Amino acid sequence: MPPSTSTATSTDYGRLLGLPFDDSDEVILAAVADASVPALLMSMVHMTGDMSLLDELPNPFMLIAMDLQGAMSEPDKAVVRERAFDVIRDYRDRGCPEPFVPDAEQMRKMLKVMSAGTVNEEQVEYVAADLRFSDADESGPALGSTAKQRSGFPVIVIGCGEAGLLAGIKLKAAGIPFTIIEKQSGVGGTWLANRYPGCRVDIANQYYAYSFEPLDHWTHYFSEQPEILRYLNDVAARYDITPDVRFDTEASGATWDEESATWQVTIRDADGRQETLTACGLICAVGQFSNFVIPNIKGAKEAEQAKDAEAKKKAEEGLAHISTEANNVVQLEPITSNLAYPSENWVRLEVALLFNGPPDVKVSEDIHQDILAYIRTVSLQQIEGPRGFQYLKDDIQERVDLRSQGRVSKVMFRTFVIE
Ligand SMILES: Cc1cc2nc3c(=O)[nH]c(=O)nc-3n(C[C@H](O)[C@H](O)[C@H](O)COP(=O)(O)OP(=O)(O)OC[C@H]3O[C@@H](n4cnc5c(N)ncnc54)[C@H](O)[C@@H]3O)c2cc1C
Repeated sequence: MPPSTSTATSTDYGRLLGLPFDDSDEVILAAVADASVPALLMSMVHMTGDMSLLDELPNPFMLIAMDLQGAMSEPDKAVVRERAFDVIRDYRDRGCPEPFVPDAEQMRKMLKVMSAGTVNEEQVEYVAADLRFSDADESGPALGSTAKQRSGFPVIVIGCGEAGLLAGIKLKAAGIPFTIIEKQSGVGGTWLANRYPGCRVDIANQYYAYSFEPLDHWTHYFSEQPEILRYLNDVAARYDITPDVRFDTEASGATWDEESATWQVTIRDADGRQETLTACGLICAVGQFSNFVIPNIKGAKEAEQAKDAEAKKKAEEGLAHISTEANNVVQLEPITSNLAYPSENWVRLEVALLFNGPPDVKVSEDIHQDILAYIRTVSLQQIEGPRGFQYLKDDIQERVDLRSQGRVSKVMFRTFVIE
């Protein structure tokens, strides 16, 4: 095992390792054809412990931002891919043992090859810490204050998106008391607010994760919103951040009081109750993309009004999309939709919702719409196999939790058919 580090996750190193796999040769071949060749080269070293592969095989030629192939020629990439296929099959057949962990010198060599010779010593230190190959703390120099000083320095963080969550994790690690004020009902910021079909990152997921919480199980190279939101929620749970978050609460103002050297932060909860909090530090992590700008589309207002009138009529008539069963269970109308990819594949899904109290018609209807919209963003690859179905169930349960704000305790899957 690699050396332990002083980070919060040090005892949990196994989670950072790849999952064992038993994929067929065809699957491996397809993955190899799709992969970044410089990354493949490094993985081959980890799988074999054979550093000589780096001398024997063609190397990345140049480091270019966002070029994941290191500017390598097609023939060079083909040579590495061919060899990678053999290495990965052999690794699979050996039962996917724990990967080889290079020592400092070996890691230097790997980084040099990977970066086409551009990594300097300072970067080596940083990357080593980031990869957990050294004991250095990648988050910066040691703190100059005492634990007592820190415990008497409360901080308010506004926003619980990716930045606010990170602030919470680091403040907690430093022993600084903090409260996060978040106007939404959950963690995730941008990724909670934006849920339109196809919403996803546009940079590779490996970059879009906390360095101290890497994940190599992303379903996509450019992950979709539900998966990123799940990741952020997982991280928040792992570091137990949510007890220190005041959700559904907006910070409406902050003033610095010179005399007491404190921030006076005015907050307002969902019921309109105001309160003023005092803190020594204030971190503004309000982001940029969680406030919608609705374009002025001709006829949109009328369409919205017509939709509201229709919803009202349905509510009065008893809704077509749901039927209420005994014991607070609501059966949603079957959801039938084509997948995002391949679009000729169709899904039929029947679910029922178990409410914590009397069923709420409006919430049920919203959930029905939300599941339908979500299914249209899903690809076949995501939901294939037992693990895929589990992901789908988890995603839907998570969306229902968010939509119902805890009023639905369970989603029951009754049928699931892919055509
Ligand atoms: C579709 C999409 C794709 C993106 N893809 C990428 C990508 O590929 N790579 C990349 O680097 N970035 C991407 N981004 C940008 C993304 O917004 C940032 O990467 C990052 O998630 C921002 O995190 P944040 O915590 O700074 O802000 P946010 O995620 O916006 O979180 C801010 C939080 O503050 C809360 N808040 C705001 N004001 C208040 C207030 N007054 N009181 C209480 N709470 C408040 C908000 O409700 C929100 O939850 C993308 C954004 C979108 C919308």
